[in-house]
Amino acid sequence: MAPVDPHSYTDSAHPLTTHVSLSLYFDFPSSTIHAAALLNLSSPYSGQLSLDARSLTVHGVLDPQTLAPLPFTLSPPDAVKGSLLSIALDSQASVLILYSTSPDSSALQWLSPPQTFNKKHPFVYTQCQSIHARSVFPCQDTPAARICYSAKLNVPRELSAVMSARHSGRRDPVAGDVSEGFKKVDSAAGLNFESLWCGDGRVVEEFVMEQPIPPYLFAFAVGELGSREVGPRTMVYAENVAAVLDSAASEFAGTEDMVRQGEKLFGEYPWERFDLLVLPPSFPYGGMENPRMVFLTPTVIKGDASGAQVVAHELAHSWTGNLITNINNEHFWLNEGFTRYAERRIVEVVQGEERAILSMGIGWRSLNEAMERFKDNTEFTKLKTNQEGIDPDNVYSQVPYEKGFQFLARIERQIGRPAFDEFIKKYIENFKFKSIDTGTFLEFLKANVPGIEKEVDLKLWTEGTGIPPDAYEPVSDLYTTIVSLANEFKLGRMPREDEVANWRGQEWELYLENLPKCVEASQVLALDARYRMSESKDYEVKVAFLQMAISSKCRDYYPEVEKTLKEVGRMKYLRPLYTALVQGSGNEEEKILAKRLFAEARECYHPIAQGVVESILAKHL
Ligand SMILES: [Zn+2]
Repeated sequence: MAPVDPHSYTDSAHPLTTHVSLSLYFDFPSSTIHAAALLNLSSPYSGQLSLDARSLTVHGVLDPQTLAPLPFTLSPPDAVKGSLLSIALDSQASVLILYSTSPDSSALQWLSPPQTFNKKHPFVYTQCQSIHARSVFPCQDTPAARICYSAKLNVPRELSAVMSARHSGRRDPVAGDVSEGFKKVDSAAGLNFESLWCGDGRVVEEFVMEQPIPPYLFAFAVGELGSREVGPRTMVYAENVAAVLDSAASEFAGTEDMVRQGEKLFGEYPWERFDLLVLPPSFPYGGMENPRMVFLTPTVIKGDASGAQVVAHELAHSWTGNLITNINNEHFWLNEGFTRYAERRIVEVVQGEERAILSMGIGWRSLNEAMERFKDNTEFTKLKTNQEGIDPDNVYSQVPYEKGFQFLARIERQIGRPAFDEFIKKYIENFKFKSIDTGTFLEFLKANVPGIEKEVDLKLWTEGTGIPPDAYEPVSDLYTTIVSLANEFKLGRMPREDEVANWRGQEWELYLENLPKCVEASQVLALDARYRMSESKDYEVKVAFLQMAISSKCRDYYPEVEKTLKEVGRMKYLRPLYTALVQGSGNEEEKILAKRLFAEARECYHPIAQGVVESILAKHL
């Protein structure tokens, strides 16, 4: 009897769930899903089975064979883990749970029509990483427990549904979809699941996922969706607005090239389809690597290289993360460090070495900034972390990405690229569809690269704090030029137009990130007067500029800060802007502004982003 994951109630002595069948009825007016979940276990079990749940109302639990009710308890919620759903089993190998989600389910964002592009229909989508799947269905919500699933989504007929799973049909609902046993539970709960399910104007979309995934990769979106084909295994989906679909299709036209590069590096693409879903601007991440269908922020559509880099990243997760998965969030670098490394290998081939080095340079800056952020809490500057009692959303940072990248690049430098490529292929083949920890990775590394521990300090890299001395700041002519121009700005010289004539978003981003955080307000105004960064369509550039404007108390730009915080919900932008407003002292006006903006914009953010902004404000106000 031992927990397998600091973020889950899953018990190592219990059988794991192998398959889940879900029937989900979407009630948009109440932002609720009424649902049935049938969980199949790897073996029959007698005793209390522990499942994770968050903000779920459980109406009843049944033995699916006999339809007899099974006793259960739902604990008061723990702030990080949510509730323990404990079900008393007597030799059952499956359980049927009838439940409803809550409007504040942490995985779900319900958008009213005015919050969408087309303004006509509502929209809902999931973001389950790291520990939010439990707010959509009760489960052993740990990557240590991989599941296959099937799902029936009952939605209004004018909408359609997509999932990170194979679509197997769209049809009218029938009474047979609803288990007999629910009739008794229904009357007790005051619900009539069958009449809801078969109501007028409803349609059922069916999906199956036959490859075992960690629960955090469970994903769906429901709305008025359209699509465009951009490659032999890629469709781009978005709200059915021609302008959005067209710009997405042209931004992602090169996707198939990247999939082929990924295959050269890692072996055959394992998930059949590689579709892309562009979400409304409130999507909290750049991208989420949901298998078969990557979810993306619309802010990556900007007509330059960096949007494709986000797709390269999510694509690389098809192998590192989705195929081999960290056993829990304490080993998150195994997902993200490998994927950042692979992303840059794909970028190097598709966009050239110069682009890959710029991306490393931006990463190097963000790694150094993360070290600064955690200077009083150095646990989170390690690759392998202790997350007992820690909410993973609150310690999310670039450390697992960029320090993980640095570690793998260090091993590559030691043994050479051909040998490292060979090692990666072997690693993927050996651990596919498994969830592993840092120790397992290190053992495999030592077994396959004999003597590596004498050349690279593996313990320092994985367990030490800070940036190891043998990490590597990238160099290239362009990178060096940008950094030295940024240094000259400190002495009062702005780059000349001919020096920046060929710069794209990433060059500007790197330039801005190398400027001092705080300069004279007059310098901020002069820079913007010449290069118009406050109006950039590229949020990376715009946000880096606005962050400097806030830290320099250049209040002319606060209306633009307000506009930005109200139009996007990507945490990569919310985190630095809110932090710049509230950290430090002598900025009472900024603190009041931050509070007002969050109160007004809150509804437009996904619940995960709401929680992150709340924790930033709580820390500084
Ligand atoms: Zn990633």
